[in-house]
Amino acid sequence: MLDILQIPVLTDNYIYLLHDPVSGETAVVDPALAQPVLNVLDEKGWRLTYILNTHHHWDHVGGNLKLKQKTGCQIIAAQADRERIPGIDRGVSENDIISLGQHQTKVIATPGHTSAHIVYHFAKDGALFCGDTLFVMGCGRLFEGTSEQMWTSLQKLKALPSATQIYCTHEYTQANGQFALSVEPDNKYTQKKMLEVAQLRLMNQSTVPSTIGEERATNPFFREDSLSIQKKLGLEGQSSVSVFTELRKRKDSF
Ligand code: ZN
Ligand code: FE
Repeated sequence: MLDILQIPVLTDNYIYLLHDPVSGETAVVDPALAQPVLNVLDEKGWRLTYILNTHHHWDHVGGNLKLKQKTGCQIIAAQADRERIPGIDRGVSENDIISLGQHQTKVIATPGHTSAHIVYHFAKDGALFCGDTLFVMGCGRLFEGTSEQMWTSLQKLKALPSATQIYCTHEYTQANGQFALSVEPDNKYTQKKMLEVAQLRLMNQSTVPSTIGEERATNPFFREDSLSIQKKLGLEGQSSVSVFTELRKRKDSF
């Protein structure tokens, strides 16, 4: 059993603390800030072993140096981001395995949002920490990659088992769902999910995690093959990449 705690920080960021009760090892994914993490570690009596970063943006690495200084943890991030991620100790790339006690996570390279973005897949635990690549009913903006790169990255995630839990770094679900419905208004799963999301947000509760299966049913960026979406965009029968490109373009100005 891997304990997973979600810590909401800033306007809409989530930091994740992962703890293996057997070995006592603990990792934090994308600490935007150090203090909220230190507070939870203190409360729980956990010692930080690793920081796992998905990409170099400040709202994912802002707490790196302070956490390292206070806890002596090791910082793991993409080798290709060595110059941009503060305090990095171990550079990793696609298919590298990191152990947290008996739990293992595999690195998947997902360029698109940034050129060196990576995600962490705990296959046996059915958990994916996907940073700003995949969001609930959405995907990250293309700051450094082409839409073809992002599409390829998302295909890797779409192929994971349906029950895989999606731990993304931002609470963007409601806005994403509004866009999803605008391009696929007749999707019953999205309609139903948006009612649940509205309830949760009303009570200021998190809508994350989702699952790969739910994303396949509702996320337009996983649904380029939907005839309804293709018709709405006027791209019937076009390639998945061109439908994806148009979706991403429309979402940018939605
Ligand atoms: Zn980002
Ligand atoms: Fe971010």
